[in-house]
Amino acid sequence: MTSAIVAEGISKTFGDVEALKSLELDIPEGSFFVLLGPSGAGKTTTLRVLAGLEKPDTGRVLLNGIDATKATPAERDLAMVFQSYALYPKQTAAQNITSPLRARKLPKSEVDAQLKRVSELLHIEELLNRYPAQMSGGQMQRIALGRALVRDPRAFLMDEPLTNLDLKLRVEMRTELTRIHRSLGRTFLYVTNDQVEAMSMADKVAVLREGTVQQVGAPTEIYDGPANRWVATFMGSPRMNMLDCTANGRLEGEGWSLPNPGFGVSGDHRAVFGVRSEDLSLEVRDEATALEGTVYAVEPLGDRTLVDVEVGGQRIVIKAPPTATYKVGEPVRAAVDMERVHLFDAESEQAIT
Ligand code: ATP
Repeated sequence: MTSAIVAEGISKTFGDVEALKSLELDIPEGSFFVLLGPSGAGKTTTLRVLAGLEKPDTGRVLLNGIDATKATPAERDLAMVFQSYALYPKQTAAQNITSPLRARKLPKSEVDAQLKRVSELLHIEELLNRYPAQMSGGQMQRIALGRALVRDPRAFLMDEPLTNLDLKLRVEMRTELTRIHRSLGRTFLYVTNDQVEAMSMADKVAVLREGTVQQVGAPTEIYDGPANRWVATFMGSPRMNMLDCTANGRLEGEGWSLPNPGFGVSGDHRAVFGVRSEDLSLEVRDEATALEGTVYAVEPLGDRTLVDVEVGGQRIVIKAPPTATYKVGEPVRAAVDMERVHLFDAESEQAIT
C-alpha cells in the first residue's frame, strides 16, 4: 500500500517539554487513520508538524514519498479541521464554506458546483443561508467540515473535531464522517483522545503516549492484542482488569490460580494477568478456570450490569447480563475465557505472548 503521509523520526521540544520523541508514522493512502492518545500525548503537535504549521527539531515529513519537511503549509495541500469551528460570524454558512474557493478566485460556476456537492454530502442544504449564531453546535461543526471538504486536498487532518458536540450528535457525526470518508476516498488523519471514537471510525489506529507511538494496528488488533500494559488499559471501557501474579506452569496470584494457557515464561516470572470484563462470566462451567471472590459493588447500566468483585485484595469488574442480581459481600466465582487473557511483564510492562 502506498503511503500518503510519513513521519520519520520527528522530535519537537517546547522549552523543557519533549512533545514528540522520534515519532514514526506511516499513513496509508486513502485510509481513515486515527491518532489516539490522552491529553498532552502530542497529537496536536503531530498534526501541526505534518501540516507545516510547526517546524520539527529533527526528522522528516514525506508526502506521497516526497520530502516535504521544508514545504509551506499551502504547498503541502492538506486541509485541517480544528476542534473549534472558527467560522466567520458575519458570513452565512454558504459563504463560510466557499471562502477558501473565493479566496482563490475560482469562477462562480465552480464555487456553486462545489457548494452543492458538499452540502449534499453533509446534508446541510437547509442551513446554507443561516449565520453561525443561528445554528447549533453540531450544525456549525458540519459547516466547518464543509469548509474543509470544498477543497480537494491530498489529505484531511482533523483535530478532535467532534469534542464540542453532545453525545447523540457525536455518535451521528461519527457515522457521517466514515460515510464521507468512503465516498471521497481521501486520506483522513483524525486526532482524538476518545478510544470509542477511534474504535468506531478507524481503519488503522496509532496509540500515542508522551510523544511516542506505542502501537499501530487495526482497532480490533490493538483491542485484542495490546502491545503493553498501558495500551491495554487505555483501550476499552471498563478498563482491562489487571491482577499481579507469578507465571510459570500456572498463573498464581493472591487468592487465585489459573492454568498457564501458553504464555512463554520461564522460572517464576513476575507478571500482571489481564482480562477484560466481557471475558469474565459469573456463570461458571469449568471450575478449573475460575476466579473466586466476593462482590464489592453492583452497577446496573440498563443494557448490562457491572459487578465489582474483590479477588485476594485486588478488584476486578465483570460484565454481567442486565438481569444479574448480586449482593454486596456475596461470594461469587468468575469463569475466565482463557483464550482471551493477557500477560504483561511486571517490570517492562510489555505483553508476553
Ligand atoms: P490534547 O488532547 O490535550 O490536545 P495533545 O495530545 O494534542 O493534547 P499537544 O497539544 O500536542 O498534546 O501537546 C504535547 C505537549 O507539548 C504538552 O505537554 C503541551 O503542553 C506541550 N506543548 C504543545 N504546544 C506547545 C507550545 N506552543 N508551547 C509550549 N508547550 C507546548
